[in-house]
Amino acid sequence: MASDSFAEACEIVDSIVGDQAESWDLAGLLPSRVLADLGGRGLLCPQVPETYGGLGFDSSSTGRLTAHVGARCSSLRSVMTSQGMAAWTIQRLGDMAQRHAYLSELTAGKVAAVGFSEPDAGSDLSAITTRIKRDGDHLVLSGSKVWVTAADYADLLVVFGQFGDGAAAVVVPTASPGVTVTKVADPLGCRAAGHADVEFDSVRLTENSLLGGSAQSLQLLVTTALTYGRLSVAWGCVGILRSCLAEATRHARTREQFGKPLAQHQLTARNVAELLTAEHIATRSCEYASQCWDAKRPEMVTAAVMAKYVSAQHAVRGAATAVQVLASAGARDGRPVARAYRDAKLMEIIEGSSEICQLILAEQAFNASYQV
Ligand code: FAD
Repeated sequence: MASDSFAEACEIVDSIVGDQAESWDLAGLLPSRVLADLGGRGLLCPQVPETYGGLGFDSSSTGRLTAHVGARCSSLRSVMTSQGMAAWTIQRLGDMAQRHAYLSELTAGKVAAVGFSEPDAGSDLSAITTRIKRDGDHLVLSGSKVWVTAADYADLLVVFGQFGDGAAAVVVPTASPGVTVTKVADPLGCRAAGHADVEFDSVRLTENSLLGGSAQSLQLLVTTALTYGRLSVAWGCVGILRSCLAEATRHARTREQFGKPLAQHQLTARNVAELLTAEHIATRSCEYASQCWDAKRPEMVTAAVMAKYVSAQHAVRGAATAVQVLASAGARDGRPVARAYRDAKLMEIIEGSSEICQLILAEQAFNASYQV
């Protein structure tokens, strides 16, 4: 990808987002024209190949753009993560006709979200009860998904369910009869990300909504989608840390107490040093995971888990540190560090909580034979 197309993508994001993130957060809503504008330029899923109308960014450039969006607005970045995760799942599991049909819609401005979680299946997705059945030449989908990011804006949902002895993923238009979308009220953070619970009451789908056939391995399906989602969330956390670093350094340079700028007080300087370190660690961890992705190395699955785990933890600590540096100046709802503080906490929960990431990483460690 040429560096000028990356720079151009950042400029477009800046011109469309501007300084509106605070008002979007307070309203709990992203304007539909913003999603249409960014989506219609392929910027919500920049990794989609040019053949399908996408920008054809590699994972590293997609990640850098995700961090750029995340530094301005975590809600918008969350929608971008969902759209990218849906697109990646379709690209990996769909046949040529499905890729052309669905990916072209996503790069033309339609919004998509991905539904795994259910009321009784959060960390343990093997417990999902959503069911996909065949009925003549149609499929029937029944069940419910919860907390689906961007579902309130979505035209399409990629939904995972049990199918026969295995599992399957289907693409569901939200306008289908039997689909009910209920927005999650007052989320802690990413308030404008359009989180919603979705009910599927015997939703009839055509055969071409089935991605990659029936009776597949649920773990394989979910890992395909989550690997993209985890890396995207991790880069979003890098964005959160960059916005915190920008706010904390700006404030510490200009705010004076005890006759000198906060920056000249060593305990404030220590807080800023910790923030800088957090941003570097998170960035390096994301860069490594994206390099693994771009080189198609098998380690990319574990590298994405580690990047998400490391970046989310640092974003939570870094955002708390930034609020401390700004104190009352940062303690207003909607302001960048206040948003960062709320938004970052959710990043330890989604796409596999920190504990689930630790379990995956520990399994990796136990399966390896380390020689010293
Ligand atoms: P639980 O699974 O009930 O876990 C509760 C706590 O117990 C957690 O701290 C967890 O880490 C811990 N825990 C669970 N099992 C273990 C274990 N074996 N060992 C140690 N600790 C354990 N879902 C979607 O399908 N699509 C989305 O787009 C989406 N977006 C989301 C956005 C936000 C902001 C949030 C909050 C959630 C979203 N979710 C989405 C749901 C998310 O994936 C789940 O919340 C997450 O998987 C955790 O499940 P849970 O909330 O049911 O917690």
